Amino acid sequence: MLIKDRTKSIRIKKLEVIQRRLVRHHPRFLSIEDELGGRLAGHYGEQSNDYFLKPFNSFSVLHDLRLSAHDSFFQIDTLLLSPRFLLILEVKYITGTLIFDHLNQVIRIRDDGTEEAFQNPIFQVKRQQSHLIEWMARNRIPQIPVRSLVVMSNPKTIIKAPPSNKEVSQYITHSPYLQERIKVFEKMFIEEKFTRKQIGKLSKILIHQHTPENPDLLKRYQIEEKDIIKGVYCTKCFFMPVHRKRGTWFCPKCSYKSNDLHLNTLMDFALLFGTKITNQQFCDFLCLSSRHVAKRLLFEMNLHHSGGFKGRIYILPEPE
Ligand SMILES: [Zn+2]
Repeated sequence: MLIKDRTKSIRIKKLEVIQRRLVRHHPRFLSIEDELGGRLAGHYGEQSNDYFLKPFNSFSVLHDLRLSAHDSFFQIDTLLLSPRFLLILEVKYITGTLIFDHLNQVIRIRDDGTEEAFQNPIFQVKRQQSHLIEWMARNRIPQIPVRSLVVMSNPKTIIKAPPSNKEVSQYITHSPYLQERIKVFEKMFIEEKFTRKQIGKLSKILIHQHTPENPDLLKRYQIEEKDIIKGVYCTKCFFMPVHRKRGTWFCPKCSYKSNDLHLNTLMDFALLFGTKITNQQFCDFLCLSSRHVAKRLLFEMNLHHSGGFKGRIYILPEPE
């Protein structure tokens, strides 16, 4: 049963907005495209892996959890909960070959022959496992076996390791073999540690304590407000800026007409600059010349606000 689904992370949403709105000559434009490409590939790789989880209807499935460790956070791609054991899945979509040496260093060789050092996914998943066990103890959750696997969601990824490195076969699997691997755990752990009700309660605590990452990407990429292209964008063809004509938004490129195109643009604003917006900022970001039109659109959105009639601050919905 799917309890918490996978959604695009705030980081990906922010990168998409920056890619859409950053002036093309900005020195970090290509780095933004690079990071976005990599993260989207990861996101879709994880999504394609979800297909292999379908036979495990008896498990409660939670995707994309970010929980507190001592003074930081740890992230889990997918957590399967059953009354007998918990299973962490770290899903990787990797192109090329991964080579593990006897020192547990990992080298990735891309299809074009270039080599790079790679973060060892076995260390990563073992760290998540110990963080989760520690988190459960801290939250007074009764003990239950926790296991973890690295799932390669690209069937073309080649894994090479010396026979002395037993951990590779113990922790890594390609997604078509995931079912078999889970069956082994099911045979290994017979005793029911939790009731269904306790599993439901644990899922609720996990979701409640999940803290989405919200990085300041403008700061990280040294992007200033002046580098951001303003205006309402067309949700059909992504043209920007869309004009306001006789009380509605009109795309000059594809002729799409809609009353509420400003809503998506305000989501961009919230992702870039935060959820507080004044009438002045609204006019500026949407390239609106009339404060009165702005006032009406803001009024129609029924937003929470603070401050008096002048200098009123509206609160946009929190990106999630
Ligand atoms: Zn359009």
